[in-house]
Amino acid sequence: MSVAFLLIDIDGVLIPFPDSAGHGPETHTRHLVVPTGYDPAKPVPIWLNRTHGPMLLGLLAEVPLAPVWCTSWRGDASILIGPALGLPAFPHVELGRPKITTSHPNGYLWKRDPVELFLGTAPAAWIDDDFTSLDHTWAVARALSGIPTLLVQPDPKVGLQQEHLETVRAWALDLEAANSRLRDSA
Ligand SMILES: [Mg+2]
Repeated sequence: MSVAFLLIDIDGVLIPFPDSAGHGPETHTRHLVVPTGYDPAKPVPIWLNRTHGPMLLGLLAEVPLAPVWCTSWRGDASILIGPALGLPAFPHVELGRPKITTSHPNGYLWKRDPVELFLGTAPAAWIDDDFTSLDHTWAVARALSGIPTLLVQPDPKVGLQQEHLETVRAWALDLEAANSRLRDSA
């Protein structure tokens, strides 16, 4: 059985969308960062919840998922976001830089095609706030074809909650149990 991945988005998941007054939730702390290629004189405000680092590490200590950033922060995820949460560097999916004006140029999440290429036939749990019904249909079809696939979709105004990671944990434990049954019957 191939490795199972945990794909993690950042905007709308670890960084909730600010409210109309430009503030993040009470649970989050404002940070200023300068993404690669940005003017250092114009840092970008982001809101992070420090408990997210230990929550993710707790999950990864319990289940054998390989964490991968899947975000338009790309390599900056491991430089600017992960360290602020106490996370080690994770690899990231190469999403390319498509010229798009919507996150669903074909009705589904723009990241999905590069994600499919990245995953091949590997099982995956994917946390992103921006899936459409076509993405959920895709995930169900992929799972029915025999490749365990889970989409978890936080509310972008609230971001990642413990319950989302519980869903991933339960899915990964089921996957482990299924794999060990396969091993036992081999
Ligand atoms: Mg997002």
